[in-house]
Amino acid sequence: MELQFLGGASEVGSLGLVVRDQGRTLLFDYGMTPTDPPSYPRPAPTHVDAVFLSHAHLDHSGMMPLLSRLAHAEIVATPVTIALTDLLAKDTLKIARLEGYLPPYAPGDIHSLHSKFTAIDRKGTFRRKGIEVELTPAGHIPGATMYRFRGEKDLLFSGDVQTLGTQLVGPAQPVQCDVLVLESTYAGREHPDRKETERRFRDRVAETIERGGKAIVPAFAVGRAQEVLLSLAHSGFEVYLDGMARNVNHIFAASPEYLADPKKFHRAMESVHLVESAGMRRHVIRDADVIVTTGGMLDGGPVLHYIGELHRDANSSIFLTGYQVEGSNGRQLMDDGTLTIDEVTVRPACDVEKFDFSAHAGHSDLVKLVQQSGAKTVVLMHGDQREKLAAALEGTVQVLVPQNGERLVV
Ligand SMILES: [Zn+2]
Repeated sequence: MELQFLGGASEVGSLGLVVRDQGRTLLFDYGMTPTDPPSYPRPAPTHVDAVFLSHAHLDHSGMMPLLSRLAHAEIVATPVTIALTDLLAKDTLKIARLEGYLPPYAPGDIHSLHSKFTAIDRKGTFRRKGIEVELTPAGHIPGATMYRFRGEKDLLFSGDVQTLGTQLVGPAQPVQCDVLVLESTYAGREHPDRKETERRFRDRVAETIERGGKAIVPAFAVGRAQEVLLSLAHSGFEVYLDGMARNVNHIFAASPEYLADPKKFHRAMESVHLVESAGMRRHVIRDADVIVTTGGMLDGGPVLHYIGELHRDANSSIFLTGYQVEGSNGRQLMDDGTLTIDEVTVRPACDVEKFDFSAHAGHSDLVKLVQQSGAKTVVLMHGDQREKLAAALEGTVQVLVPQNGERLVV
């Protein structure tokens, strides 16, 4: 069995893994890196028998529309992932237009993608052309799945994985395999206790409101915004939601079997005010206690409007809830207290604090997942500090740390 990463081996972005086994070629994920400008993985092989998409985040799904040009390949994903991928692909073209990038695919490719998708429900199995691949929930975000390929050896592709349940989605369970291809986003790092983080987050929001300010909470549209809203449910705050997360809520609500607690999700989303138009934003500034909005790294989206309006208010707060990539506005805000809006650099007077709402397994949870899988070989991917996880696993299993393009035989 031969493995080759088209991207995403040593970085968190642009993931693509080609697996060749007994004359068949499979592709797991094909993403992009939504930086400014975006970057893309190496080209996919011209013949692929089947494509398996783990979940909808752009670093895994971003190049799917381009695969609609492959003649024979079916693309397997859960129904939730299929709906979200369509939404994000259209948004990617919109951003390319607004920012002046050359788009990686055409609108027609998104359209053609519909006929390429094969929806398989959680815990289902794909069987075609002698290929057998089983789905098993990955935690992380609703619809996220791991894939076990029953080839010459049993290979498990983790996608992004979270082994602790959150308010939004249940935990991933360990799966037996021979070869485990494992994400390493949090190699060498542990998360603080989630319940404690959520309590501290609510306390900081309450303090902001008590002193007469408003809390701006930038959040990624898929998963993170909903985790934040669930954590604020029943707090009694006036919570407003702006940006693409509104559409994501509808997709999640339509697939209750993918949620940790559909009733709780439904109640939490009912209590949120939706910002339906740009004209409403004036009222939001007046009436809201908390504004949850995209983009999560402050590089675009309605969040810049709200920060533009409120950055002089020392009573207000900006609470970051996700990873802030090098070069992003969010990272600039954390590192030197400034951010750039419409080419003007401002220094917000607001409180700025970051909370760890991560949807990835921490270092010890990854080690535990390896031990429970019974894998003899572990291939580490999707991480910029993989050597820390490799060191922790050394001596217990064979650990491989490939580079992009390298061909591995397992
Ligand atoms: Zn992800």
